[in-house]
Amino acid sequence: MNTLNKLQGLEDFPWDESERCVACGLCLPHCPTYRKKREETAAPRGRISLMRAMVHGDLELTDRLESHLDLCLACRACEAACPSNVHYGELIDSARAIVHASTPMSLKEKLVRRYVMDGLIARPKRLMSFGKFLRFYQNSGLQRLVRASHILNLFGLHEAERQMPWIPEVIPLTGVHTSPDKQLRGRVALFTGCIARIIDRDTLEASIQILAALGYEVIVPESQNCCGAMHQHTGEPDKAAALAQTNIDVFLQGNYDFILHTATGCGVQLKEYALHLPDSEAAKRFSGKVMEITEFIARDDYLQDLTFEPLAASAAIHEPCSARNVLKVSTLPAQVLAHIPELMIEFLDGNQYCCGAAGVYHLTQPEMSASLLADKVEAMAQQQPDYVVSTNVGCALQLAAGTGKLEKAPVVIHPLALLAQQLRE
Ligand code: SF4
Ligand code: SF4
Repeated sequence: MNTLNKLQGLEDFPWDESERCVACGLCLPHCPTYRKKREETAAPRGRISLMRAMVHGDLELTDRLESHLDLCLACRACEAACPSNVHYGELIDSARAIVHASTPMSLKEKLVRRYVMDGLIARPKRLMSFGKFLRFYQNSGLQRLVRASHILNLFGLHEAERQMPWIPEVIPLTGVHTSPDKQLRGRVALFTGCIARIIDRDTLEASIQILAALGYEVIVPESQNCCGAMHQHTGEPDKAAALAQTNIDVFLQGNYDFILHTATGCGVQLKEYALHLPDSEAAKRFSGKVMEITEFIARDDYLQDLTFEPLAASAAIHEPCSARNVLKVSTLPAQVLAHIPELMIEFLDGNQYCCGAAGVYHLTQPEMSASLLADKVEAMAQQQPDYVVSTNVGCALQLAAGTGKLEKAPVVIHPLALLAQQLRE
């Protein structure tokens, strides 16, 4: 039991925000964990009460209390549904920061935070080298040997290894990209993310291709870093703020028209730098320039200037929670993909509920994550699309993992990658 005399970080808990909750319960039907468990402690209203009781000192911080908070996906469906505008995302991040600062870490957690989150995720060059090693690991036969030896079971890493996606060739993506025969429409910067720049290079290259074809100069700043979302949502807001500051400095130096992102999970964090650094004018300017890429190309219908090859296929749009509940851009992929002739577009059933990826949630809460993924697999089995389209790389990986169970497996793809695939140029 984590019984403690004194909790750390209480002064940062947004008490006023929590007081806005009037316990009406209108958020309950929107909460994926409440839908699965039907328990108040697995619902937003119950979690807010638990946080308040912990901060007020009415409830001791125990493993049980921690587990109720851990089960939350931070999907913010409750926030989108709340008539009192309770900013639940801020509450859960803050509660997790208190828990992290007040409880001793297990050896595994210490190693993950030190060597993975701080040592790799927040160090782009090292992460690229690690990506090269993983590619060698997958292609050299080493993976087969390691799996056969079951050595990773000893460290509890076998599941993470099993879920590791295929790693394409790791080549740094930096510099200035243009289409010389196009009239210049503006200058935009591309945020590449940390892991995405290794595993989702196709989406980044496709985005550059479409933007350049539309007449934009695309700059990929070399010194950009991870958005900080992983640190923010796992109780380390100070480290997240340091990463934010690096990105603010790097991107504001360039005086770009917009800062575009291709992963809505990162996009929420970038958009909320201004919220996390309320005294920073630079953070406000940075967040004001951040835009999700489908939102950017859907503006003024610039895509009308391009021609796409017909595609006689069906595409089901998956709406990531970050796109649907926070950025409110989740229907725009349907709008941009409508430019591909003959493509039949529909929405994946059950889009209002999280797919269970939620950052590292699929690793820390495998049972609930698998149950949520099973619903998505069922929806794909019913609708049988040729493509499943998602604007968040974490969700795309989770959905792709689920397609292995289907007789007819759809291709999981970012809308920009599908557009680039059909671009007639
Ligand atoms: S979070 Fe909002 S919707 Fe949910 S109980 Fe509180 S006030 Fe009602
Ligand atoms: S963030 Fe998602 S999982 Fe967490 S309480 Fe809100 S709706 Fe439920």
